Order: sequence, then structure tokens, then C-alpha cells
Amino acid sequence: MLKIQDFRKIVIANWKLNGSHSFSREYFDKLVFDNSNNKENCLIISPPVPYIFQIKSNNIYKCAQDCSEHTEGAYTGEISAKILKDIGCQFCIIGHSERRNLLNEKNEIILKKINNCVQNEIIPILCIGENLKHKKQNLTKDILKDQLINCLPKNIDFNNLIIAYEPIWSIGTGIIPSIEEISDIHKYIKESVFSEPKIKVLYGGSVKANNYKELIELPFVDGLLVGGASINLDEFNKIIKF
Ligand code: PEP
Repeated sequence: MLKIQDFRKIVIANWKLNGSHSFSREYFDKLVFDNSNNKENCLIISPPVPYIFQIKSNNIYKCAQDCSEHTEGAYTGEISAKILKDIGCQFCIIGHSERRNLLNEKNEIILKKINNCVQNEIIPILCIGENLKHKKQNLTKDILKDQLINCLPKNIDFNNLIIAYEPIWSIGTGIIPSIEEISDIHKYIKESVFSEPKIKVLYGGSVKANNYKELIELPFVDGLLVGGASINLDEFNKIIKF
């Protein structure tokens, strides 16, 4: 299993439901990620599953955007964690807010998916985040704590887990929390919810080439989860110079 604790900063590209065969070929041809002098920088790419095979570089990790809550059997259309492992995935995003909101994915399902990843030695990237109403009601920390407690198995190994804090109101909107808010939330997750300062907590929500530098260097931020900007090669090639 990978030792993610050795990474200083982690960047994840979430293509969402975008891409094509020709797009992914060109993308991986033109992506410029050189960590030969800086092995502690980690790049993880999460295209739609059929394009994962286009990731040929040894210094880029393969990630899926979801896995089935089931392990095998008569579940047409599903892809299990076991199959993801078999095709070489090292990571899997679980509980993205788009799945929670659009596909009604609840914490109990997310917990099963996390367990399936763990059993197949895939490192889960658990997404958590509050909506705008909760933020306005000052409920952000309560919501995050509830998601963390209910989506993670009791015996989870914090060395093999990534948390992505993604305020829902920031995803795809161009609006991000203040630097103080991001720092405060990341510190809260690491120190108050878990007493695990080493747990990897990434920030996601409207990360672009013009704001990534300030965000990624924050002391409590272990990296970034990038959606929209990750499929724009000009933008993303700037971001992966972290
Ligand atoms: C995401 O999809 O997780 C995300 C953070 O999207 P965006 O960067 O487009 O806000």
C-alpha cells in the first residue's frame, strides 16, 4: 500500500463526467508533471473509469470517482472496488456532493463504499462539505463532524485515508471561503474531530491557476481537489507546478 504520509502536498484532478478517448490521449500527452526532484509532491487523476488506462506515467496515480456499495453479483452497471483494484486504481473518490445531492447518496451507503475500498487496498478520498444554508446557520462544523463520524468505519486507518473538505456552495461557483475559514476548518478536522494532526485533509471548491498557490501552501492544507480547472490543460499545467 502507498505511504501517503510521505507526501508533502497532494493534488487530485476530478474530471467528473467529461472527456473522450481523443481528449484523454491528448491530455496525458500534454500534461507536464515533473516531480523527479520533489518526490513528495503527489498527483492523482480521476477521469471516467474507461479512460484510466490512458494514464501511463509512473508518477501519476490512478483514481476512480466512485465505486459500488456492493462487492459482486447481479448489480448491472456497477463497478466494484475489487474491479477498480484489478485495473490498477490506487485511489477512489467517495461521497462527492454531486453524488450525495443528485443521486441521493446517504452516509450509510458512503460508509459501505469506504469499507469496500479499504478491503481492496484502495485509498478512499472522502468528500465532506456544508451547503450554503448550513453555513449561514453557522452549522458547518456540526455538519462536517456528522459526515465524518457516520461515513468512516470505526477502525479506519488514518494513514490510508484522505479527507477532501469541499464546501458545496464553492463547487463550480468561483466563490471560495476565506483563507481563515479554510484554515480553521482543516485544523478543526485534524485536531478536534480526530486528534490526528497527520491525517491528510485537502481543500476543494473553485481552485484555479490564480488561487491555488495561496491555498496549497496553507499549513493545515495537505493539498487540493480540483474539478473544473483540471480539464483545462492550460490551467491545470499551472496548478501542477505546486
Ligand atoms: C469538485 O468537483 O470536487 C470541485 C471541487 O469542482 P470545482 O473545482 O469545479 O469547484
